[in-house]
Amino acid sequence: MTTTYDVVVIGAGPGGYVCAIRCAQLGLKTACIELEKALGGTCLRVGCIPSKALLESSEHYLAARRHLKDHGVMVGDVQLDLAKTMGRKDKIVRQLTGGIGFLFKKNKVTRLHGRGTLTGITDGLHGVAVSEGDDAATTVRAKNVIIATGSKVRELPGVAMDWDRIGGSTEALSYPEVPGHLCVIGAGVIGLELGSVWARLGAKVTVLEYADLPLPGTDTEIRKLAAKIFKRQGMKLRYGVKVTGARIEGDKCIVESEGGEPLQCDRVLVAVGRVPNTEGLGLENVGLAANKWGQVEIDDHFETGVPGLYAIGDCVRGAMLAHKAEEEGVAIAERIATGWGHVDYDTIPNVVYTDPEVATVGKTAEQCEADGIEVRVGKFPFSANGRAKALGSTEGFVKVVARADTDRVVGVHMIGPRVSELIVEAATAMAFGASSEDMARVCHAHPTLHEVTKEAALAVDGRAIHS
Ligand code: FAD
Ligand code: NAD
Repeated sequence: MTTTYDVVVIGAGPGGYVCAIRCAQLGLKTACIELEKALGGTCLRVGCIPSKALLESSEHYLAARRHLKDHGVMVGDVQLDLAKTMGRKDKIVRQLTGGIGFLFKKNKVTRLHGRGTLTGITDGLHGVAVSEGDDAATTVRAKNVIIATGSKVRELPGVAMDWDRIGGSTEALSYPEVPGHLCVIGAGVIGLELGSVWARLGAKVTVLEYADLPLPGTDTEIRKLAAKIFKRQGMKLRYGVKVTGARIEGDKCIVESEGGEPLQCDRVLVAVGRVPNTEGLGLENVGLAANKWGQVEIDDHFETGVPGLYAIGDCVRGAMLAHKAEEEGVAIAERIATGWGHVDYDTIPNVVYTDPEVATVGKTAEQCEADGIEVRVGKFPFSANGRAKALGSTEGFVKVVARADTDRVVGVHMIGPRVSELIVEAATAMAFGASSEDMARVCHAHPTLHEVTKEAALAVDGRAIHS
């Protein structure tokens, strides 16, 4: 017998699993289809979580080798047990992905294992076939279907991926040994985070980037400082390089670029973006097709144009971020259940977990200028902050961008220690329509890194105290 649900979610990444839980909380009979054995999607299995686990471990390794002595802590011969580092990461992933299964049970979300394919609409209900390998598919029906199938590594023409020595982020999260020489294609978020991991663990890392600086789209001053710091840390960053090919030759990989000398290395990490997972989803069975970027087209309410069919997360327009997918998952669940659901796209933070970290929310001053918005900018350095001094991490700054006419904060941009944890203050302030004056008048505990944000807000009006 075919089971009918109020909502079927295809994909159990941060978009899909959060959406399914919220739907169930709102009293909707909900199922979530996931083709992988583990729940949690790219983020929990092969993305946010394992990369942060490795970043943390590699930072400890580097601290033990180089930085602890600055604190008067002398350690002997420091050894890396890579298998243990990887085991720790895998355990964290197992715990968190297992936790989603628990949350599904607790919230009475039905978990369906297999590939979900849209089969069409009958009597106002969507059909979704769920198939595992070659086994015959079972079909479920639902009034509402949410596509949350996420994304996969973008391949580069001419680059012969063997998904081992020439691979993407998933492979780079599990190299069995520290590569002698790792070539990273792309100085975006993945290239810099995973490049940092392997550089800290002892690899020679060369990053080839098409743009003139790392992290395209970020505040230019931050990009320049980041480039300087990463270079000093030992990563070799080459800009203006358009990679055109890569292949394996014997025990080496050869990377070719337009007008450049071929580069020989031991492993290649392709990190030039991600593309939506929309192939084989059966979009054609409901009269839809993916757009030229492979995304499912949606309107402002996540509607695809087919009644009862919605899409969220990495497989639709916008930033490919776990928290953006989650917000969309909650918004569409609430919209289906109550008629209302909203995501504030102007206050979605973006974080790069390198050392120092980069964290931004809202518009840069350059974007405001391009949009014809007159702004005032306040900036304050971590070098004048007591807590940063105590940490021994004083590079970087916070920049607050506020409208010149109303003082409303339209963007906050940070590079420095632990700014991943500081950015939420800025996002919260912006979500409540704060002015720089509002941010500056909030009492900040001393000594904290947060005081840099307060001082940057004061600096918008030329009133910073400690500079
Ligand atoms: P996904 O997480 O990709 O989940 C989609 C799920 O759908 C997958 O489990 C897939 O198996 C399943 N699926 C696909 N097709 C079907 C089908 N037909 N039937 C059934 N199931 C299907 N973002 C951050 O915000 N912070 C970070 O620190 C961060 N770090 C990252 C590090 C790396 C190395 C990578 C690769 C990504 C990182 N991201 C990070 C991005 C983040 O992982 C994604 O933005 C997020 O996972 C998107 O969520 P999603 O639910 O849309 O899709
Ligand atoms: P990205 O878009 O961040 O960076 C890709 C980089 O590759 C760009 O700098 C681009 O100029 C460069 N590039 C493109 N083609 C090239 C070529 N032929 N030769 C040389 N350089 C080239 O993509 P990514 O780093 O792969 O990350 C993918 C997505 O995953 C991002 O959208 C990001 O939001 C998400 N992600 C987020 C986090 C985080 O939030 N901390 C971490 C990892 C991934």
